[in-house]
Parts: sequence; structure tokens; C-alpha cells
Amino acid sequence: MTSIELPTYADVEAAAARIAGVANRTPVLTSRTLNEQAGAEVFIKCENFQRMGAFKFRGAFNALSKFSPEQRRRGVVAFSSGNHAQGIALSAKILGIPATIVMPHDAPAAKVAATKGYGADVVVYDRYKEDREAIGRRLASEQGLTLIPPYDHPDVLAGQGTAAKELFEEVGALDYLFVPLGGGGLLSGTALATRALAPQCVLYGVEPEAGNDGQRSFRTGGIVRIDTPKTIADGAQTQYLGNYTFAIIKRDVNDILTASDPDLVNAMKFFAERMKTIVEPTGCLGLAGALNVKDTLKGKRVGVIVSGGNIDLERFCALTAA
Ligand SMILES: *Cc1c(COP(=O)(O)O)cnc(C)c1O
Repeated sequence: MTSIELPTYADVEAAAARIAGVANRTPVLTSRTLNEQAGAEVFIKCENFQRMGAFKFRGAFNALSKFSPEQRRRGVVAFSSGNHAQGIALSAKILGIPATIVMPHDAPAAKVAATKGYGADVVVYDRYKEDREAIGRRLASEQGLTLIPPYDHPDVLAGQGTAAKELFEEVGALDYLFVPLGGGGLLSGTALATRALAPQCVLYGVEPEAGNDGQRSFRTGGIVRIDTPKTIADGAQTQYLGNYTFAIIKRDVNDILTASDPDLVNAMKFFAERMKTIVEPTGCLGLAGALNVKDTLKGKRVGVIVSGGNIDLERFCALTAA
């Protein structure tokens, strides 16, 4: 790989200025029950209260804000069935930029409706026969659209880092911070903020046990590719880390941990019952990872990023009923 120029904390600060007044400054919640269970002081940064229900709005809005007048006129294209699509669609609507979203033909109707509701054009493809990246790239070149990927982009990951920046500004330095990991946009942006604002903090990414490509990549030093993992954490079913995200993670993160699907369900129940908040399975990775190593956290100040809360009520009930 030819060398790439990595974004820095200055890019996170610039992103924070761009999203100010548009993105929500999400709350940091605490729970006595959780503190007692963990034997630690735990601070939960709640991106399930972000606009469109996940941190993805931060990176999407930051990336689109940097478009030139020509890019704005022509429009943006993104491929995603999940939160990135909605983050791009909402940001494009706010900025008056035409958006095209490439989604699988069997994406949940609610997600397609939400994306269309933000005014985006939805192009469907057959996920068993066609390659969404190829479709996205073809649309980009044919129509002059700018392709914004879900994580491996300097402006996207810098935007995602603004959540941790807010957390440190609000609660001060932390001993540990636990962050959900898919393709690494959230974790790499968080790493830039952490090394600038709380350099001694131990930073962990947490990914689904069924798809530990990030952990294997981190520990072997090279990007490992896997088949789409089977897990309820649908926002972290990525097959490999990005070039930008991995370079930062390798340099600035302490380790990658995993959490099982049952761990995620337990965390979903805890958030609902004890903290009165709905968190999607992927959003629970941070708390589940922290509870898996809670013996090491005694007496420490611990941060957890809850990444999103987008889940159908029916699915929520089915997963938590057992
Ligand atoms: C996208 C997403 C993630 C994973 O983020 P990456 O930047 O791909 O690592 C985690 N949680 C939720 C809710 C997401 O939407």
C-alpha cells in the first residue's frame, strides 16, 4: 500500500465546529446499579440519542459539509443498508445535496422507508448476485456523484471522533474507554480524540465474537478479511477494517476485545430495564466488552460509547424475550 496521510486530532476539532448546532450533543448517563456491578465509576455516552439514532450522522455531516459547490450540485452516493445510509440521507437533506443510496433488495422495509423519507433516491440491488461497491462506483463515475464510504474515509472517521471529544470534555480523563467496532470509523476517530485529551486512557475496541477480524488484524499487524459474520450485531458485520482506520487503530488503540450475542442481549436488557433506554445490539458492544473484563476495572473511571439505538420494536422484543 502506498503511504496515506492520516487525519489528526485537529481534523476532529474541525469536524466538531462543522457539526456544532446541527448534531446533538448527546447525554452522558450513569447508573448506580452499574457502578456497583462493575465496582467502577462508569460513564455512558449515548449516541442512541444522536440524530437518526446513531453516531453515523457525525461523520456523514462532516464529510458532506466539505463538498465543493460542484460536488454539492452533482450529489452524493453511499452503499449501506443501515445507519450510514440514514446518516448520509439526513445530512444531504439538511445541506440540500441530492443523495443516492444503494441498498439490498431485501433490506428491511422500515429502513428503506426511512431513507426515502429523508428525500434520498434508493437504488436496490441483489445482494447475492451483485456487488454494492461496484454499483456505487459505477453510479459515481456515470453521474459524477461523490462516493462516501461508511468508515474508511478521513472526514468520516474525524467526524465520528467528535463523540469521544464531547465525552472527555464533559467528564474529564478516563482510565478506560470501550468502543463498538465494525469497520473502525468510530474507533479510529475515538482514538484520535483519546490520545489528545486523555493520553493515558486504555482504549479498547469491542467487536462481535463471531467476526473477530479486527482482533486478529490488531494482533497480527495486517488487515484480516473474513466472511460476513453471523451475529445479531448487524452494524458490525463488516468483513475487514479500512486502510485509514486500521493504521490509526494499530497505532493508538490498546487492544480489541469481543462480546458474544448473549452478552449483547444481556446488555440490551440492562439498558432497557435499569437505564430506561433502547440500544440496538451493535450499540451494546462497549458495555458487554467492559463487563467481560470487569475484574480489571475496580475503582477505575470507565467510559462506554453506546453507538446507536435503531432497532424495530418487534425485533427488540424477540431478542429480549428469552
Ligand atoms: C456503523 C455502526 C457501528 C460500527 O462503526 P464502525 O465505524 O464501522 O466501526 C457500531 N454501532 C452502530 C450502531 C453502527 O451503526
